[in-house]
Amino acid sequence: MSIDAFRTEVRGWLEENCPETMRTPMPADEYPGGGRRAAFKNPDTEIWMRRCADKGFTAPTWPREYGGAGLDAMQAQVLRQEMQRIKARTPLVGMGLSMIGPALLEFGTDEQKAEHLPKIASGAIWWCQGYSEPNSGSDLASLQTRAVADGDEYVINGQKIWTSGADKADWIFCLVRTDTQAPKHNGITFILFDMDQPGVSVKPIKLISGLSPFCETFFEDARALRKNVIGRVNEGWTVAKRLLQYERTMIGGGDGGSGRPNVASVAREYVGSSGGKIADAVLRDEITTHAMDDRAFGLTVRRNLEESRSTQAPSFVSSMFKLYGTEQNKKRYELLLKSMGSQMLGWEGEAFSAEELDTTRAWLRTKANSIEGGTSEVQLNIIAKRVLGLPD
Ligand SMILES: Cc1cc2nc3c(=O)[nH]c(=O)nc-3n(C[C@H](O)[C@H](O)[C@H](O)COP(=O)(O)OP(=O)(O)OC[C@H]3O[C@@H](n4cnc5c(N)ncnc54)[C@H](O)[C@@H]3O)c2cc1C
Repeated sequence: MSIDAFRTEVRGWLEENCPETMRTPMPADEYPGGGRRAAFKNPDTEIWMRRCADKGFTAPTWPREYGGAGLDAMQAQVLRQEMQRIKARTPLVGMGLSMIGPALLEFGTDEQKAEHLPKIASGAIWWCQGYSEPNSGSDLASLQTRAVADGDEYVINGQKIWTSGADKADWIFCLVRTDTQAPKHNGITFILFDMDQPGVSVKPIKLISGLSPFCETFFEDARALRKNVIGRVNEGWTVAKRLLQYERTMIGGGDGGSGRPNVASVAREYVGSSGGKIADAVLRDEITTHAMDDRAFGLTVRRNLEESRSTQAPSFVSSMFKLYGTEQNKKRYELLLKSMGSQMLGWEGEAFSAEELDTTRAWLRTKANSIEGGTSEVQLNIIAKRVLGLPD
């Protein structure tokens, strides 16, 4: 099928299947993450997710046998463009699609892919990430959570922290130490297991935004099947690093700010405009510069994707995207704050609209962007060593 015919087909499908309410910005209290415990505020969110999943559009480039649509890069771009054109919400989000799914496609056995990928693409299972520990964040390889083999299983003891969505997640992809004698990077295994078992407990942690998006996660004789080790035993660091590259690419964004508030429109609304221009010249200049940087960033990410199409995987360059993209996003919300002034400082009450209250919380949430997935300082170290080849 030609790309034009594909576009026509996709456009028609979207017109027919995307509910009107799914063509509006996602409110802060809605999260189309799926999973066994999914609670959708708006029933259309679930309908939209299911329709896309049936069509393979939740994971457009994944093979059809694993629940994707088997699209090539060009077709996937057309789908993205057509969804942006009608302002369609992303039908399904989460670590399943953006992190463990790609890692499984790369490192999983056929059996592991067949078992886990379709449940990710359909939104049946919500995943969380068990990497960080109270004493192992930036120095992740020093992690201490222990796994000991016992027949067909591993018995796991230890603690993770900052586990996003652990209180809602069905499964966890987890880094555990399986060899305590080996150098720290060589004794780690990457394993998947069910969160719904007696050996796993979680305790939510509250953020400054008022939300509790992450938890402390405790394992006391938790059980994982050996067949759910991804890659080789004691060689999980390789999988872990690659997954971080997927995570950093995702956090960095690089889509030119689509789906995020349009700062220029907000500024026109709150500061006023004359002849279509934002009335405040200094603010106008800052917003224009930011928009140009966004555009250049989006194009750079796209060029890199095209260039690395042969490998189909991100590289250490993902650290550059993570660093720049998160700083851009933080700047975007600072500019919104300059534009909206005290209307973006409300916490509750009738003086503020629901969108204003959402924006306040989103602004506070951006503060975590340069910490999650590895801090900005750690990205700078990786860029220096792995991208620029500078000495230690
Ligand atoms: C919103 C959010 C969600 C998260 N979700 C998850 C999750 O789902 N799963 C998960 O496993 N983890 C998650 N994390 C944890 C995150 O990965 C860690 O917070 C991060 O890696 C930093 O580790 P740390 O908090 O232990 O800080 P530390 O490692 O203790 O760092 C403290 C400070 O020291 C600096 N620093 C440390 N080492 C160096 C160095 N070598 N050079 C220069 N500076 C250095 C850091 O940049 C930082 O400023 C999440 C974090 C946030 C904020």
